[in-house]
Amino acid sequence: MSEYMTERGQLRYVVRRSVFPERIEAKLISGSIGCVAVVKNSTKRGKLFFVVHKHKATSLHYDFRLEVGGVMPSWSIPKGPSLDNTVRRLAMPTSDHDLEYRHFEGVLPPGYGAGPVMVWDEGTYNPEIEISKGVREEVTDKIEAEKVASKSLKEGNLKFRLYGKKLEGSFALVRTAGFGGKESWLLIKHRDEYSKPGYDAKDYDFSAMSKRSIAQIAAEKESGIDSFS
Ligand code: MN
Repeated sequence: MSEYMTERGQLRYVVRRSVFPERIEAKLISGSIGCVAVVKNSTKRGKLFFVVHKHKATSLHYDFRLEVGGVMPSWSIPKGPSLDNTVRRLAMPTSDHDLEYRHFEGVLPPGYGAGPVMVWDEGTYNPEIEISKGVREEVTDKIEAEKVASKSLKEGNLKFRLYGKKLEGSFALVRTAGFGGKESWLLIKHRDEYSKPGYDAKDYDFSAMSKRSIAQIAAEKESGIDSFS
């Protein structure tokens, strides 16, 4: 199984990197070694997925990804998501991630994005609509949910409820005026029963899938399977 996956991954890596150079990070993930859970097309499910990858590349960051329209629009959050409703986390948009590789955990090969990747959190989400000031309602029908999510992202203000292993409750992703000439967003926790003052992602250095730390995942590199060169 893992050999098959690795070979398949290598093929995808070679072919797709050349076709879509702007999506190298996603391609590297799909072409990398490690435990890759392949999940079939999402059309028959009733839930939208989210995942947060903790990624120790040149600098440590958390890739926050929400399923919309069969892909996962993504934001790179240097400090990671927080359950503290008084903090706003800078979130820089990055390229869409392949939905079927959302459970990738392992070490990315040399090149852009090289380094260990952890599934820091994963689960499902529902977009929310504000029915009156401060009162939000979840959109649970998948078709409607994707419409709302897509429209909200275009407008630069998506409210949603996460059902993760670490992250729970209501959040907002809000586009701001920009940071260093680049489009930037903020990830904000709404105040609710899951708010947790002082919550810092770095205090939770364990995988939602395997419980491994980022250092333990990084050590995998030396543990066998050939890397890319
Ligand atoms: Mn990344």
